Amino acid sequence: MKTQKLQILLVEDGSSDVEAVCRAFRPYSENTNISIALNIFEAKAYLAESNPDIVITDLFLPDGSGMELLATEKNDPGYPMIVMSGMGDEEKAVEVMKRGAFDYLVKSKKSLAFIPTIVRMVLREWETLQEKKQAEIEMIKAKEKADRASQAKSEFLARVSHELRTPMNSILGFGQVLNMNKENNLTENQKDNVKYILKAGSHLLTLINDLLDVSQIESGKITMVPENVNIMSLLDDLIILLMPLTNEKNIKITNQLSDDSEGIAWADLGRLKQVLLNLIGNAIKYNQVDGSIVLECEKPSEGRICIKVKDTGEGISKENINDIFQPFHRLEGKSAFVEGTGIGLNIAKGFVESMDGTIKVDSVLGEGSCFTIDLPIGKA
Ligand code: ADP
Repeated sequence: MKTQKLQILLVEDGSSDVEAVCRAFRPYSENTNISIALNIFEAKAYLAESNPDIVITDLFLPDGSGMELLATEKNDPGYPMIVMSGMGDEEKAVEVMKRGAFDYLVKSKKSLAFIPTIVRMVLREWETLQEKKQAEIEMIKAKEKADRASQAKSEFLARVSHELRTPMNSILGFGQVLNMNKENNLTENQKDNVKYILKAGSHLLTLINDLLDVSQIESGKITMVPENVNIMSLLDDLIILLMPLTNEKNIKITNQLSDDSEGIAWADLGRLKQVLLNLIGNAIKYNQVDGSIVLECEKPSEGRICIKVKDTGEGISKENINDIFQPFHRLEGKSAFVEGTGIGLNIAKGFVESMDGTIKVDSVLGEGSCFTIDLPIGKA
């Protein structure tokens, strides 16, 4: 099979140097083609028509510097270049290489005889570089594609959940009117059915709101309005709010924050409340009957404050511990029978990170879990 010849452009005005290069390539004449340009003008005219595999150019030409044929930031010529000069000037060599030449050759009988080997080495290096560049371009393209898809998904989620909220609120509103039964004309069966509508409706509304949160976190459009938040009083409010659930399972909650003057975090109150509601809600949901929950607040390091939610539930195995922050991820086993969607911890992570904080969990299977959120401390 006949392979394409290697196309070399030699830009050189010295006839003895042209002769030396051509002589060196003579043993390879079957698969090498050398075109000669005597100056920059001729070289540019040749390059406008043809794509050589490599350019070998003299540095000093009658109408300018061989450097003019080098790649510029805006213009990648698509070939490697070897620059030759009669001067063994190190500074010049460094400059030429910095500007993108692949090699700098000091012209001598010996070096010109060696030029086919240099060309082979340069071409090999050039090919590796091109492959690397191509791989980088493909990686950037793939990332852009994934980003666009993810952005489109987040926008779709945001729009759908937003549109669903309005009719859902009106279903719930009219359900509540029916539930009041002012005219006292509903049968017992109808009253039960209205309660089912309200329960399913409020569950659906929670889901829609969660989806809206997820889409906002994913698209980076979440806005936080941080303020000084008193952790002690926030936790006290939440304990009261969750009392019906703790009473149902006879779970004891203790708030171990003693010095409330220290317990001030710099956070968005509404979002932090939602995060803690999810963590304490889980500590109740996945706890045993007669279990306990301990809430703690510490200052782990200068400028930081952390809140811990410890439970005596079934715990989470080491293999599963990293998965629970993934959206819609629910663990198998007993917890699978507890009502939930697997999205709360994902939202909690997004919210905490948007407040310049971190969230982590330590757990021992069969003994319980401890969720810790770390936040910036309140401002004086
Ligand atoms: P949900 O509770 O709605 O399923 P979450 O995102 O809050 O969603 O939690 C994800 C999963 O992590 C839960 O389904 C449960 O399997 C596990 N999990 C969360 N909190 C605890 C906990 N305190 N103890 C044991 N497992 C937990």
